[in-house]
Amino acid sequence: MSAPIYLDYQATTPVDPRVLEEMLPYFGEIYGNAASRSHAFGWQAEEAVGQGRERIAHLIGASAKEIVFTSGSTEGINLAMKGVAQMYGSKGKHIITSQAEHKAVLDTAKRLEKDGFEVTYLAPDSTGRHSAEQVAEALREDTILVTIMWANNEIGSINPIREIGAVCKERGVLFFTDGTQAVGKLPVDVEADNVDLLCLSGHKLYGPKGVGALYVRRRNPRVRLVAQMDGGGHERGMRSGTLNVPAIVGLGKACELCEIDMDTDREHALSLRTRFEEKIFGALDHVHLNGHPEHRLPACSNLSFAYVEGESMIMGISNLAVSSGSACTSASLEPSHVLQSMGVGDELSHSSIRFGFGRFTSEEDVDVATEQVIAAVKRLRELSPLYEMVQEGVDLSKIQWDAH
Ligand code: PLP
Repeated sequence: MSAPIYLDYQATTPVDPRVLEEMLPYFGEIYGNAASRSHAFGWQAEEAVGQGRERIAHLIGASAKEIVFTSGSTEGINLAMKGVAQMYGSKGKHIITSQAEHKAVLDTAKRLEKDGFEVTYLAPDSTGRHSAEQVAEALREDTILVTIMWANNEIGSINPIREIGAVCKERGVLFFTDGTQAVGKLPVDVEADNVDLLCLSGHKLYGPKGVGALYVRRRNPRVRLVAQMDGGGHERGMRSGTLNVPAIVGLGKACELCEIDMDTDREHALSLRTRFEEKIFGALDHVHLNGHPEHRLPACSNLSFAYVEGESMIMGISNLAVSSGSACTSASLEPSHVLQSMGVGDELSHSSIRFGFGRFTSEEDVDVATEQVIAAVKRLRELSPLYEMVQEGVDLSKIQWDAH
């Protein structure tokens, strides 16, 4: 068997060697606490943190003072949503989000419901996207926050963030977007895109795990948050705790590289995905693309192979590291909530696989993967009585797999 091939770049990315190199000294000789104001060890660490902050801010069109370091997007989401809800809860109790969000958003929203907030969960269209009009229609006098993700982690669909942000701005409602899958992959400019809060995560953009950032707008309007962690008042009181200097250095470097390499990365991913999809659709029938054909992350291909069960498929391609639905829910056999929210039936949801390409994926990787996927689907379909019936001309489309 050949070496395993990693095609799960939406779950996490490897650390870029250039990022690792920049981080290493901060595990050894440069070990100061960035909050130590009275000596050179602290100043050195503070300078490194400052550079990281600048680089992150630059990538998203923010100013360094608007960056709050976190342990990743789950924390960023909690801080943004609970922080806004608790700060502005006296103005209104209504929050709008999407059924297709990551569990970190959905579970935070559920917690806020228990705390007395009312949440509207918008259903995406059949490509997994929302329109600004849909958001506008859901806004109420008592809406204090809209939370719509930039790009979906399971299907890669990209929302019209600028337009949604404009609607929120016009109505004076704060707009938070989960930028975890988008930042570093797509151009992001919090000013032009009308975003008030945005979270990002190191391990999705070739940086280390366990570090991320929350952008919090300081002007026009100035967003205030109730801190979720009490302590030394770090990060202008919004997130107490000694900063993880090596990780912040790595996140900063990863952001700088994403900015420099964005066009190259995008073209690379797009050409691999096109190569992959052309071959798959050329060799197999009854394959469905989940997500928007164009408004989609260049590196993401979520496909449903009708008449093939996703888990058997994953076993059939065991040396390809891919994911059925979101990594965070793949332990359960529940069909993906994202696919369900788009109206994809149970059978096609269960037969979906997410392929993710990235900076270190080669054409050869894609070719080997493609061959294995095609062979596995053909093999499994030979065992499927339903597929045999379809081949014999029986129309199952209304009742079975093709009911998309
Ligand atoms: N939001 C999205 C869209 C994600 O893909 C992820 C990662 O799986 C998260 C949030 C959680 O991010 P983290 O792993 O940094 O907590």
